[in-house]
Amino acid sequence: MRLGIRDIVVLERDAEGGGIPRLCAHPGFGLKEFHRILHGPEYARRLVAAAAGIDLRTGHALLGVDPDGTLRIAGPDGPGVLRARAVLLALGTRETPRSARLVGGSRPWGVFTTGALQQLVHGAHQRPCRRAVIVGSELVALSNLLTFRHAGITPVAIVEEASHTLAPRALAWAAGVAFRTPVLTDARPVAIHGTHRVEALEIDHHGHRRLLACDGVIFTGRFVPDAAPLVGSSITMDAGTGGPVVDQYGRTAIPTIFAAGNVLRPVEPSWTAWTEGRAVAQAMAGQLAGRLPVPTHRTTLSAAPPLRFVCPQQWSEPSPLQVALPMQVRSGDDVSGRLRLTAHGEELWGHRARLRTGRRIPVGGRLDDVAPGAEVLVEVVRPN
Ligand SMILES: Cc1cc2nc3c(=O)[nH]c(=O)nc-3n(C[C@H](O)[C@H](O)[C@H](O)COP(=O)(O)OP(=O)(O)OC[C@H]3O[C@@H](n4cnc5c(N)ncnc54)[C@H](O)[C@@H]3O)c2cc1C
Repeated sequence: MRLGIRDIVVLERDAEGGGIPRLCAHPGFGLKEFHRILHGPEYARRLVAAAAGIDLRTGHALLGVDPDGTLRIAGPDGPGVLRARAVLLALGTRETPRSARLVGGSRPWGVFTTGALQQLVHGAHQRPCRRAVIVGSELVALSNLLTFRHAGITPVAIVEEASHTLAPRALAWAAGVAFRTPVLTDARPVAIHGTHRVEALEIDHHGHRRLLACDGVIFTGRFVPDAAPLVGSSITMDAGTGGPVVDQYGRTAIPTIFAAGNVLRPVEPSWTAWTEGRAVAQAMAGQLAGRLPVPTHRTTLSAAPPLRFVCPQQWSEPSPLQVALPMQVRSGDDVSGRLRLTAHGEELWGHRARLRTGRRIPVGGRLDDVAPGAEVLVEVVRPN
């Protein structure tokens, strides 16, 4: 998609562009974007090739954002600043590591996140362990099973604290049938044992302590937006998503700064990030051309528990641009009922829904007709 914008700079802290797919050496990418199923590295290569001619500056990290939108950056030549008429934040997500999950025990070699494992296996061509336990059952656990197969690592078990797998049933099927890996639900990692290398993961399974012998533990999922450079800036952050608050155009509290992809909320497949990136790019081009007015009265959306968040969290005055981020909610609990949007008690949209913990649920309707500045609530009304 070419929108006629010149002087585009892409900052990437890694040595190569392409994002997470660069190290996901398994199929599952590209069907919507390139009309064929691609492995992650090929998908990443195509994305970079599609941006040929753009000033891609690898080894450059965003450190912070000043109130006027100036970017504070660091590159091979040291720290610096960059000013732009429009900025897209596409910082992605990161997984929650062991340290933030309060798993006790010793500190031996062999404890990784998915990203660290993939870096070792696909980036450095190493086999860092031989028998490993996967902690977490989001879809990314399946990516780990594929990495294990590639590296010759035997999966010992998938350990999940919830009472069901967080990925769709396909994961349980794939783990059980294709990878012969037991999935232990209601199982909480308690401690890691081992002196130099990991020797076992201790879990609490249905209230009983068990030791799973292994030499590797992979903490997967529990993604959070990689939004550290935004913390303490004038960009409003959402406690529910962990990412920036945006309107339907992806615009943050600093109107020249936009966001798209997984930094908005964890975690979506790559084609969603791609679709959002294109929609927000059109909004940015519209703003540069003076077709997207600076918002004066943003409508605020909030999510009532057990919903954890709604995204986008704001709706600005309509514009001639027919683009908008798709609205979605996530629940912190399994719940069924009428999912609805209300403003001042009046239902704007609603339908029956069955929400599973952590899964994305689309929320319908544009809010162009809602009075500017109104407060919109998204809630699940359970049957009596
Ligand atoms: C293990 C794994 C397997 C996956 N498998 C699939 C799959 O099979 N199919 C699928 O559709 N999706 C898959 N996904 C999801 C997919 O990778 C993401 O949806 C997609 O990459 C999100 O794109 P993004 O641009 O939002 O972020 P990312 O791809 O995460 O890109 C963010 C980029 O920003 C850079 N960055 C971050 N912070 C800074 C900073 N401060 N300064 C400069 N640069 C910075 C990062 O280095 C990175 O290159 C998988 C994800 C994971 C983790």
